[in-house]
Amino acid sequence: MQAQIPDIPLRIGGKPFYGQHQAKNLLSRSLSTGHLAHAYLFRGPEGVGKQLFARGLAAVVNCSAADGLVACGECLSCKKLISGSHPDFLLVSPEKGAIKIAQIRKLIKTLSFAPYEAKMRVVLIEDIHTMRQEAANSLLKTLEEPPENNLLILTADSAGNVLQTIMSRCQTIPFYGLTLEETTTILLQQDDTLDSDTAMLLARLGEGSPGKAQLFHRRNLVDFWKELIDLLTGPVGSSDKELGKVLLMAESMAALKEDLPHLFSLVKLWIRDCLLDCYGQQSGTEAVKTRKEWSSEQFFAKLQAINQAEKELGRNCNRTLVCEVLLFRLRE
Ligand SMILES: [Zn+2]
Repeated sequence: MQAQIPDIPLRIGGKPFYGQHQAKNLLSRSLSTGHLAHAYLFRGPEGVGKQLFARGLAAVVNCSAADGLVACGECLSCKKLISGSHPDFLLVSPEKGAIKIAQIRKLIKTLSFAPYEAKMRVVLIEDIHTMRQEAANSLLKTLEEPPENNLLILTADSAGNVLQTIMSRCQTIPFYGLTLEETTTILLQQDDTLDSDTAMLLARLGEGSPGKAQLFHRRNLVDFWKELIDLLTGPVGSSDKELGKVLLMAESMAALKEDLPHLFSLVKLWIRDCLLDCYGQQSGTEAVKTRKEWSSEQFFAKLQAINQAEKELGRNCNRTLVCEVLLFRLRE
C-alpha cells in the first residue's frame, strides 16, 4: 500500500522533484519552524536524487521568494545557483575516487570568512563515504560547530561506509529507491526523445535509481538488448550465415566489458516477461517478443544459462567464449 503522505513539492524554477517524501517532510518541517540543522547527511542508494535535492535546498534557503520547499527560480540567488555561479554554494567532490585532506583544509579556510552575499552559505560534500580517515578527522570540529551562516550537506551511498564520528555530528536524512512510475516519469521528463516503453524498461533496469537508468540509456544498452532479442527470437538454423551472426553478436557482447552484467539483467527481465506471457499474464511493458514454441521449462533453463555465464565472468573466464556459449543456450 502506498503511504498517504502528501507530496511536498521541491522545486527550483518550476522543475518538480519526484519522490523522497520522507526527506521532503522532514526538511519542510524544519524550514517552517526555522530549525534547520547545521549539518545534514543525505544517505541512500546511488542515483536517487540526493545531490539534486541538496541543490534544491540550497536554492530554497537563499531564495528571496521561497514558498516552503519551492524556490522561485527567478530571483538573483536562484539564477546564480541554476547557472552554477553562486559564490556561496560550495561543492566538494571526490578527486580521483576520494575526498582528500587538502580539500577539507581549503574548505575550512573558506568557511572562516563570512558568506559573500547570501544569508547562508551552503556547502555540499558529495560521496562522504570516499573520505579518508585523516580528512574526516579534520572535518569533525567544523561539522560539530560550523561557523555562523553555513549549512553543510553531506551525501553518502547507503552501500558505502560512513565513519561513526561523522554520522553522530549530522542529522541523517534517509533517501530511498524510487517507484517504477516515479523513475519512468523522471526519465521521460529529462529526455523527450525517449518513448515510454524504453523509459519503463530503463526504469526497471535502474531498480529505483533514475541515475543508474540514465547511465544505461547513455550507453545504448536498450538498443543493444533489442538487437539481441531479435537474434534470439529470429529463425534458428545452422547455416553459416546464421552462425556467423551469433558469433558476431557474442563478440560485440564481450566488448561491452563492465556493462555486460547490465545487459544480462536486461535479458533476465525479458525472460521474466516471457514467463509471465507463458502463464497468460501481462508483463506491464511492451508486447513481449518471444517464440511461441518455447515452454516455461525452457525459459527457466535460459535463466540458469545466464546465471552460469555470470559465474564464469566472475571467475575471469574468456569473455567472448562465455558469450558464445550463452547465446547458443539462449537460442535453444
Ligand atoms: Zn528565488
